[in-house]
Amino acid sequence: MIVASPSSLYSDLDVTAELDAPLGPHTWFGIGGRADLLIHPNSVEALATLVARCRRDGIPLRVLGSGANLLVDDDGVDGVVVKLDTPYFKAVEYNAEGPVQRVRAFGGASMEALVQELPRRGLTGLEQMAGIPASVGGAIRMNAGGKFGAVGDAVDAVAMILPDGSQRVFRRDEIEFGYRHTNLPKGIVAWASFIVREDDPAACRERVKEYFKYKKSTQPMDAASAGCMFKNPTMPDGSRESAGRLIDLAGLKGLRVGHAFVSDKHGNFLGVELGATTAELCALIEAVQQGVKQRHGVDLETEVVYWKRGEGA
Ligand SMILES: Cc1cc2nc3c(=O)[nH]c(=O)nc-3n(C[C@H](O)[C@H](O)[C@H](O)COP(=O)(O)OP(=O)(O)OC[C@H]3O[C@@H](n4cnc5c(N)ncnc54)[C@H](O)[C@@H]3O)c2cc1C
Repeated sequence: MIVASPSSLYSDLDVTAELDAPLGPHTWFGIGGRADLLIHPNSVEALATLVARCRRDGIPLRVLGSGANLLVDDDGVDGVVVKLDTPYFKAVEYNAEGPVQRVRAFGGASMEALVQELPRRGLTGLEQMAGIPASVGGAIRMNAGGKFGAVGDAVDAVAMILPDGSQRVFRRDEIEFGYRHTNLPKGIVAWASFIVREDDPAACRERVKEYFKYKKSTQPMDAASAGCMFKNPTMPDGSRESAGRLIDLAGLKGLRVGHAFVSDKHGNFLGVELGATTAELCALIEAVQQGVKQRHGVDLETEVVYWKRGEGA
């Protein structure tokens, strides 16, 4: 749905708005169309009011993090896209309470910056996120993680703005964190608090370095990608198989459609080159899914979130 008179949605709110805004530059793939309206809110209150108005007027609303797990359709998206990239939503607060501390980070705060800052302060708890590009909100939504753990391991509480504009804080014991999944309801992560502990700064730094080195040695970190394109599928015996291994065994590494390709280094990384379209990447995704189905009889489900007109929240 095109927003009919968009300024009535936000003109009295503490936000910055862009009409017909390109979304590609906000994503790691760097491709895809435009948003009817891109809003950068300056407070939780402004955001909550905007959310409530979108619900009232039947306008789809999506939230963009650092765009590291996002693919936008070539035709862009309808309604409102919110990006929490103002100083208010990038803030991080450190609450020293002896050896155990709670760090509160707003939804748009950079996870990479947090991972670097904690060792400087002699705090341990989020090293497992080294090398994973994310905003705090995007990391929580995806329960991002890998070999060394996931973001959920450190979460103390999450504050959400729900689709009707109301706000609620979920305590750790109310949240289930699973593989690239949480049971948090639909809505926007306004902030999250993490439990971290005092530790030797050099040891913390060393762990971050070691985890990052491992990631760099196994994954093509510099390609325009969204990390792993597919979730690791659950096999009949309940175990999880590596999607990258299945793609590799199916001989699909290096496969190309136009300017989109399967990485030679890691089968689950699908990348794009300059000039690529989302249509090319989607065709490649389908080709990989078909190839894996034919070779292994396994259905691969995408981990990357796909935004398309008419399919908004
Ligand atoms: C090079 C590379 C390596 C990667 N390696 C890993 C890895 O090792 N492990 C891993 O798990 N992932 C990995 N990823 C994927 C990505 O880093 C994670 O999925 C990350 O959590 C995405 O966060 P984001 O802020 O970029 O979210 P986006 O991509 O912007 O959004 C992803 C989803 O989160 C939602 N979202 C964003 N912000 C909020 C918010 N405030 N509230 C509610 N929902 C929100 C969006 O609406 C969307 O549905 C990698 C990506 C790249 C590019």
